[in-house]
Amino acid sequence: MRLSLSAAGLSLLGLAVDSYWDIRAGLSPAYIIVPSTADKVSKAVQIIGTCQAKFSVHDGGHMNYPGANNIDACVLIGLSNLNAIDVKNGSVDVGPGNNWYDVYSALEPYGSVCIGGCMKTIGVPGLSLIGGFHYFNNKYGYAMDNVISYDIVLGNGTLITVTRDAYSDLFWALKGGANNYGIVTRFELRTFDVPKVSTTIQVFNETCIADFLSDVCEAAKLDDEDPIAAASVLGVQAGISMPPSQFTNFTQIRAIETINNITTMKPCDTLDSPKQTMRTWKDAIDKIADVQGLYPTFVTNVISATSIRVAKTNGVGNLWGLEEEPLIIWQFSTGWDLAQDDIRMEAWSRQLAEHLHSINKKLGLASEFIYMADTGEWQDPFAGLPEKNVDLMREIRSAHDPAGVFFILSYGGFKLGL
Ligand SMILES: Cc1cc2nc3c(=O)[nH]c(=O)nc-3n(C[C@H](O)[C@H](O)[C@H](O)COP(=O)(O)OP(=O)(O)OC[C@H]3O[C@@H](n4cnc5c(N)ncnc54)[C@H](O)[C@@H]3O)c2cc1C
Repeated sequence: MRLSLSAAGLSLLGLAVDSYWDIRAGLSPAYIIVPSTADKVSKAVQIIGTCQAKFSVHDGGHMNYPGANNIDACVLIGLSNLNAIDVKNGSVDVGPGNNWYDVYSALEPYGSVCIGGCMKTIGVPGLSLIGGFHYFNNKYGYAMDNVISYDIVLGNGTLITVTRDAYSDLFWALKGGANNYGIVTRFELRTFDVPKVSTTIQVFNETCIADFLSDVCEAAKLDDEDPIAAASVLGVQAGISMPPSQFTNFTQIRAIETINNITTMKPCDTLDSPKQTMRTWKDAIDKIADVQGLYPTFVTNVISATSIRVAKTNGVGNLWGLEEEPLIIWQFSTGWDLAQDDIRMEAWSRQLAEHLHSINKKLGLASEFIYMADTGEWQDPFAGLPEKNVDLMREIRSAHDPAGVFFILSYGGFKLGL
């Protein structure tokens, strides 16, 4: 089917234009395939392989650069129709067409949660295949550590189920390997009993930034699985103590606004993806202050020793191969209005990230680890992984996709190089 790529046409196919979080990612594919079953995904990949067509895969649409999840003048596969959710005892089967709100909503009646995204509109597949920062990482590890099995269509169109025992090499490689191995058509996610959570959202003025960052550092250093997590100014812990007891350091900083709540993991409105409008970050941005619609944010994501320990001790591991030591991932996310500022803003972001990294290097504080889900398109997230893991990833790719369908024909997203 050849389509005119009007907004209406895309919407009819379940691929609404606003399903791309980054407006720059709205490209113009020539053909769009929206399969309704895993078998149809398999057929699509076979045809694509035969025709040697270039293609891209779209789900939650949150990856943040043009070409990561879309393609001009070639084939786009949208998985929005693979949206089944089946709650089981201790796990949930989830189709890739779901976002985390769908999954948390399905689990809520059972008093269960799974390890997914903090924001509700993020797609299940991208986040689960890349890592997965969630409020409960300290205790349960990352989303990728909690995938029990995957149904995946390989480059030759074969549909297989990957578990710890079946295709164990691929099972490991999918824990951080993103879209390098195939199209996942079902994730089985481990679930946990957490009927209620206690949340705190705090807004501080500029004078509190130093105290806030100092408390983020203390939170990262804690070697305790129970201060479950802090994401920027949003803290969530299991249970009903209000305000959440594990965030005492933060609640002691004088906030200009504090919202504490007892709720369930099914996210409330405050957990909507901010579309660059909720968080503010003030810093030396004078050089770009004239950019129309400038909206800079600075988020601190904490990696604690306990969150890494999960993969170290579960007998599977993951691609990150991080040591059990605290890290704080700095995430800069900047919005602006006009396409004419794209190049300037990309250059500014790159220079800022590289400049700050060089300062950290001089101070002996830098890590080369880059979280792929928030990586700029100019960065290489594989360069920060242990070399032996990257070598193994290549071997596994050669074994399961010898023709390079997910390398040569599908090049969007973060692809492992030669
Ligand atoms: C507002 C916002 C909030 C965020 N919050 C968090 C957070 O709380 N925690 C966190 O860890 N990350 C977070 N992220 C980062 C997020 O995890 C990544 O952007 C991730 O790629 C989103 O996945 P998706 O399915 O929505 O994206 P897509 O853009 O649809 O997919 C991402 C990549 O995976 C590929 N892909 C998609 N589906 C499949 C499939 N079924 N099989 C194989 N490959 C596939 C795509 O081709 C693409 O390259 C956030 C991002 C944004 C923009």
